[in-house]
Amino acid sequence: MANVKVAIRVRPPTAREGADGGKLAVQVEDKSVRIQNGKLDGRADGAVDSREKLLEFGFDYCYWSVDPADPHYASQEEVFQDLGVLVLSGASEGYNVCLFAYGQTGSGKTYTMMGTPDSIGLTPRICQGLFRSEDTFPDGQNSSRVEISFLEIYNERVRDLLRGGEQKKKASLRVREHPEKGPYVQDLSQHVVSDCKQAMDLLEEGIANRITAATHNHDASSRSHAIFTIQYTQAILENDRPSETVSKINLVDLAGSERADPHYCRDRLTEGSNINKSLVTLGIVISALAQNSQMSSSCQSINSMASEADGSTVGSHSSSLSGGGGGGAGAGGGRRHCFIPYRDSVLTWLLKDSLGGNSKTIMVATVSPSAHSYNETLSTLRYAAHAR
Ligand code: ADP
Ligand code: MG
Repeated sequence: MANVKVAIRVRPPTAREGADGGKLAVQVEDKSVRIQNGKLDGRADGAVDSREKLLEFGFDYCYWSVDPADPHYASQEEVFQDLGVLVLSGASEGYNVCLFAYGQTGSGKTYTMMGTPDSIGLTPRICQGLFRSEDTFPDGQNSSRVEISFLEIYNERVRDLLRGGEQKKKASLRVREHPEKGPYVQDLSQHVVSDCKQAMDLLEEGIANRITAATHNHDASSRSHAIFTIQYTQAILENDRPSETVSKINLVDLAGSERADPHYCRDRLTEGSNINKSLVTLGIVISALAQNSQMSSSCQSINSMASEADGSTVGSHSSSLSGGGGGGAGAGGGRRHCFIPYRDSVLTWLLKDSLGGNSKTIMVATVSPSAHSYNETLSTLRYAAHAR
């Protein structure tokens, strides 16, 4: 498997989007997504204006949720069978794995990562899979330990979502870098779990903590990144000698990508530009990793992303050149590696040892099918296409 895989998931139209005849701007065809601006004023027949350019993007997986009868329709279980199984197989082989959901608010990130009580998403299914694979090993031969942590990054600050006590819940934690183990969050609580139920209880507790904060803070959950981390340690007997492999699985529900829009940021400068910074840096990092793993000596597309970013409210990326740490520690075996600016945002810094190097990265970009969301959807498709 290549080190970066990108999936697109198109959610069903909402009642509001369907109300005016429900014009769709997006179409899925096997491994590509087509988008055309069908939102036309003054055309009563609803036909798409042929002058509007049709754009097409290729991805590793494309999922359509609009109509269950459609051959491209994918249920939660089908998405798990592709992406969740990749996560589990990567972790059992000893890789660190990162799975991100990226997209505008309301496009289906949380549905995909967490799901609903009737239709659970990737995180609970991955936990189930982890404990299911446990009992396939013969007794006494292998043993493993599962530890969970759950944090939120809001405005470049880290908060533990699994800590008791009001004071502790509010406290923001420091990110530090261990010379060998890499970046970590100081005082982040770690929870050893021995079955899937315990893991689910922690997931729910963390989600509830996000929601509590959100009521004080409008829709804080759409402005913060949530990272559910499973540390999976396997003790394996190899030729009668015990050895230990540690893999980290990071399951990330990102902030709404509309915050990466420079127009939006003008209103909420600090917060907007901080979220922007994480999402833009993440895009640059993943894109650099994808390029490095293709052993390409060209950094063209990354540089073009960086210059797009420079046009927004994000600070100049040149600052990272003196930032030290992580530079060039990319995946793959190419001779000339692009510089990877992990330290430009808390999100990428924290995930440094799960992005690149001994790791696998999967991004699910979620979009609305509706012509109303044409601009946001197009920008999500572009971001996701850059990551490959
Ligand atoms: P986000 O986390 O990106 O803001 P949500 O995951 O909360 O968006 O999704 C918005 C709404 O759309 C929710 O009511 C959710 O249940 C629904 N939804 C999203 N994706 C799908 C899908 N693939 N199939 C069915 N419903 C979906
Ligand atoms: Mg959400």
